[in-house]
Amino acid sequence: MQPNVIDLRSDTVTRPTPAMRAAMASAVVGDDVFGDDPTVNELQRVAAEIVGKEAAILVPSGTMGNLAALLAHCERGVEALVGDESHIYNYEAGGASALGGVVYHVLPTTASGELPLAQVRKAVRPAGDAHAARAGVIAIENTHNRCGGVVLSLDYMQQLHALAVELGLPVHLDGARIFNAAVALGVPVKALTEHVTSVQFCLSKGLGAPVGSLVAGSQSFISKVHRIRKMLGGGMRQAGVLAAAGLIALTEMPARLAEDHANARWLAEQLAALPQIDIDLDSVQTNIIVFGVRDQSVEHFLTALRERGVLMVAFKDRVRAVTHVDVARAACEQALQAVVQVLHGDHEDMV
Ligand SMILES: *Cc1c(COP(=O)(O)O)cnc(C)c1O
Repeated sequence: MQPNVIDLRSDTVTRPTPAMRAAMASAVVGDDVFGDDPTVNELQRVAAEIVGKEAAILVPSGTMGNLAALLAHCERGVEALVGDESHIYNYEAGGASALGGVVYHVLPTTASGELPLAQVRKAVRPAGDAHAARAGVIAIENTHNRCGGVVLSLDYMQQLHALAVELGLPVHLDGARIFNAAVALGVPVKALTEHVTSVQFCLSKGLGAPVGSLVAGSQSFISKVHRIRKMLGGGMRQAGVLAAAGLIALTEMPARLAEDHANARWLAEQLAALPQIDIDLDSVQTNIIVFGVRDQSVEHFLTALRERGVLMVAFKDRVRAVTHVDVARAACEQALQAVVQVLHGDHEDMV
């Protein structure tokens, strides 16, 4: 890819920072399958502490983290309550079902990314019913990807937690972007994760590490996940090379996420001022912007934008742009100029 391309497709395109590359080059490593990699062990210790859980385990991806967590919560034939707009249900290849015999019980997702509590309650079948599949876990997502990066409130997390305790069910949080949620709410990550039994979060998105996610929970839960990770082929040997970047992602990168949010806000407000753009500013709460384009197809818009060195992606029938560490404010300004040119150019064609 050309070096001066402005890539707003996703925060997964972030490249390791110079500090990460230096840490990777000098990482002290060992065989993690023997539990010998000191850098992996340190990352797992720090991660558990930050999310306020007993233990954490490094996994290759968020998808494997969610999968291992669901399999640890649910035996075969047991239901995972998931949102119809969740990443777990839409983008993880049905893994928990295909590989673990887990039944996805799909609930509606509100525009604010929530599973309505009344629906959760209704979805759990009466105990002792021989005909019904038993519920094993409630899975939520914060920030919510397909809802445009919206943040689940602390209040909602608390209420869902209380309901789960009443129903005797664990809550798994797909917190791929939980640091974005915490920054947006101005609370420590712990204030959110204390309301869930287990959490998966990504080092490889806004936090900028090249590869890796963590799953955290109780010691006994993480022991189960460890075994399942092995079963899934996720033993990673000298993974300290990745963990070294992960430690920087975890300790140094969250503080700068506010900048991504401010850039997204700025860009969204500029876009909102353009008559051809249809955008709900209330949904722009973190680093994700989703908008519609009037008068031209999304495909045409994205192609014309690409020709001007700016990458965004189609998202449902709209366009998604995600801000991140490799796109500074000046690049957002250039991206906006490109959008204006594309919209303007199209109009001139039509006259
Ligand atoms: C990216 C993402 C994942 C999966 O992470 P990968 O590392 O890409 O497998 C899971 N959940 C959400 C909400 C995500 O955005």
